[in-house]
Amino acid sequence: MNGLVPAGGTPLLIGGKLLPGGSGTFETVDPATEEVLGYAANASAEDMDAAIAAARTAFDDTDWARDHAFRAYCVRQLRDAMRDHIDHLRAITIAEVGAPLMLTSGPQLEGPITDLTFAADLAENYSWETDLGTAEVMGITSRRFVRREAVGVVGAITPWNFPHQINLAKLGPALAAGNTIVLKPAPDTPWCAAVLGALITEYTDIPAGVVNIVTSDDHRLGAQLVEDPRVDMVTFTGSTQTGRAVMAGAAATVKRTFLELGGKSAAIVLDDADIAAAASYTAFSVAMHAGQGCALTTRLLVPRAGYDDAVAAAAKTMAGLRAGDPTQPGTVCGPVISARQRDRVERYIEIARAEGGRIVTGGTRPEDRPRGFFIDPAVVADVSNSATVAQEEIFGPILVVIPHHGDDDAIRLANQSHYGLSGSVWGRDQERVRRVVNGVRTGTLSVNGGLWYSADAPFGGYKQSGIGREMGVAGFEEYLETKLIATPA
Ligand code: NAD
Repeated sequence: MNGLVPAGGTPLLIGGKLLPGGSGTFETVDPATEEVLGYAANASAEDMDAAIAAARTAFDDTDWARDHAFRAYCVRQLRDAMRDHIDHLRAITIAEVGAPLMLTSGPQLEGPITDLTFAADLAENYSWETDLGTAEVMGITSRRFVRREAVGVVGAITPWNFPHQINLAKLGPALAAGNTIVLKPAPDTPWCAAVLGALITEYTDIPAGVVNIVTSDDHRLGAQLVEDPRVDMVTFTGSTQTGRAVMAGAAATVKRTFLELGGKSAAIVLDDADIAAAASYTAFSVAMHAGQGCALTTRLLVPRAGYDDAVAAAAKTMAGLRAGDPTQPGTVCGPVISARQRDRVERYIEIARAEGGRIVTGGTRPEDRPRGFFIDPAVVADVSNSATVAQEEIFGPILVVIPHHGDDDAIRLANQSHYGLSGSVWGRDQERVRRVVNGVRTGTLSVNGGLWYSADAPFGGYKQSGIGREMGVAGFEEYLETKLIATPA
């Protein structure tokens, strides 16, 4: 495809070497055309074993964890190498992820590259040691220091929807904090991770074994990484179902687990808001990248009196955002990642109908696109908040519109979910908005269209949406241990 992807397929990165996979190669497919783009190394269990061993050795036998300035320098080198290859990376991202071009100047590519600066700066400026002063215990006066240190070997397991954002939001802070890493990306987007191997070996001084990248079409390699006693921590982004398996797998070695999981977030519209505008905005965001975002507000809660207007406004917006070619600058909704994912979305449309829902617009394959995993953005009306489509994460462009009976009822409905990842509140009266913000149990909230995504803003979930926070100082500190040192005063 281009210089970063060799004709025979992308290699693994293990112990500083670019290597073929012990299980051959596997295909990566363009979801917009269904064509095989090319191949990625298919790692074997032995490859994963070697990657973990390399990460362990790099952590235990080098000064990586203690040389803060060098790590900052290396993380900036990686950022600059990615910037220098931005056109290649953009082409790969659009082709492999089906990401609309417009998103690659933001969270699909350029945003997370820039965010590496925040991680590098933290490596340099973080207060690694705090003097607690003296304390007398049982007649002995001691001086105490709290030191923060890297956790050790980090296993990073990532999904396919925003691969650069999620890979780099783990790699950047984990490296800046002094850890070594084994990255296992999703089988659907191996190239987005594997190209980092080429950039790291060619354009950075990151020592051998500090970053290892293991592509595979076998989920069991993820489980292997989770269970291996040489791995100190697992940072996982993916579905809640897999997150449970990761947590269980990590229990045998009492491993630290950092989980970014699914969501079914609510957009709450109060009766003094511009209901049609809020509905339209929400519909637009759910159509973006074909609804494949964990933090999207896929439940629209609107006042009963404004229900019909909200449904109409959402449907009008979505009808204007038909699924289209991701290479085109005007495309908002590209394809979903795979036939499996499209089948899943279509199954939920059927379930919505079977539960009495009305498909107001979309939910079908666009007639003018016989190839590619496209599905037109859909608005589902007339189901309750306990309907399957209102409770389960679909990960496709489906917005469910549900009526509420006032602010308290809206809070109750928003919280009636296993998830608690994100959400939004729309209203004019500041006091009422504040009450709703206080009442919703979720990790991130947007008020009247405020945007929360940035390098310094911690992101993560309440309830079954996860444990821990990614990005921000909190996201950096996830990758740190705490060591208390006491000496006689
Ligand atoms: P997934 O859970 O199917 O897979 C995620 C990763 O886990 C993949 O790399 C996969 O190979 C690996 N894996 C699968 N089984 C495993 C096991 N038993 N042990 C260890 N690893 C295993 O998720 P997906 O379909 O790739 O991505 C979509 C999901 O990701 C959605 O639920 C979405 O909400 C979630 N997501 C969450 C966030 C967030 O920040 N909270 C961000 C993006 C995506």
